[in-house]
Amino acid sequence: KNLKKYFPVTGGFFKKTIGYVKAADDISFEIKKRETLGLVGESGCGKSTIGRSILRLHEPTSGEVYYKGKNVIRASKNEMKKLRKEMQIVFQDPYSSLNPRMTVGQIISEPIVQHGIMKNGKKLEERIKELLEKCGLASYHTNRYPHQFSGGQRQRIGIARALTLNPSFIVADEPVSALDVSIQSQVLNLMMDLQEELGLSYLFISHDLSVVRHISNRIGVMYLGSLVELSGKKDLFESPKHPYTKALLSAIPEANPRKRKKQVILKGDIPSNVNPPSGCKFHTRCPYVMDICKEASPEFRELGDKHFVACHMAK
Ligand code: SF4
Ligand code: MG
Repeated sequence: KNLKKYFPVTGGFFKKTIGYVKAADDISFEIKKRETLGLVGESGCGKSTIGRSILRLHEPTSGEVYYKGKNVIRASKNEMKKLRKEMQIVFQDPYSSLNPRMTVGQIISEPIVQHGIMKNGKKLEERIKELLEKCGLASYHTNRYPHQFSGGQRQRIGIARALTLNPSFIVADEPVSALDVSIQSQVLNLMMDLQEELGLSYLFISHDLSVVRHISNRIGVMYLGSLVELSGKKDLFESPKHPYTKALLSAIPEANPRKRKKQVILKGDIPSNVNPPSGCKFHTRCPYVMDICKEASPEFRELGDKHFVACHMAK
């Protein structure tokens, strides 16, 4: 709720703060049980910052995060320890996020041992086997090392590790972006099966709309630290309201000519997030820019059923 994360930018001899990167600028949304909210946007738009702020891997600058009614931001150390079991993260890079000197068994059991839930022994071994099985790695031995697995398998290990403590919410930050396209859908399908089986909720972060489309129930579109559109998946793909969303959608190749959307071509590059454009941050690239867009920041308002958009023109 109204989540902000600003990173100071320092400069000059005295390293004074000369500005802020508004990585997440007043973001509000909710995720329901068993739901996947996809967060999409170009790299650097603040998606990961939001994911990390929700889990308090960053302390947000302001705003609140509620998990099952509990205020995460104000949780004490002890409360946070409990919350950490329930809220987990899967990282983008299955090559660097797994410790190469640890066996798969050690990697997966680390959180269990750290939280003092089980000691090394038969029970723990069974739990690790069960997790590997759940993630489609039943035939692999727990004393293998990450380098002995393929990229897709490593991401399965990353997912198994995230499941170790029986979480109910997972931030998946570009979990398939480092993988070959042919492997991506296998990992996405695994995540969807696990969601079904374990009743998980996902915040699924990706720069790739077709990936987000595959897995999400609802989708949020981000631009320069702001949420510009948020709606159910079908609604977003069938009637996008924000010019930026339209541009992203028209960039997806569509085989069926009747389904092809009118191309929306963006001018220029994404501006810096240190001193973002005034008014609507998208106005420097928007094909429909009006005078008001340069001055007034558009409100994030609801147009129709739970379809939110921040654009002066949208109706
Ligand atoms: Fe374009 Fe104006 Fe809408 Fe921003 S508010 S997206 S500049 S039309
Ligand atoms: Mg990122």
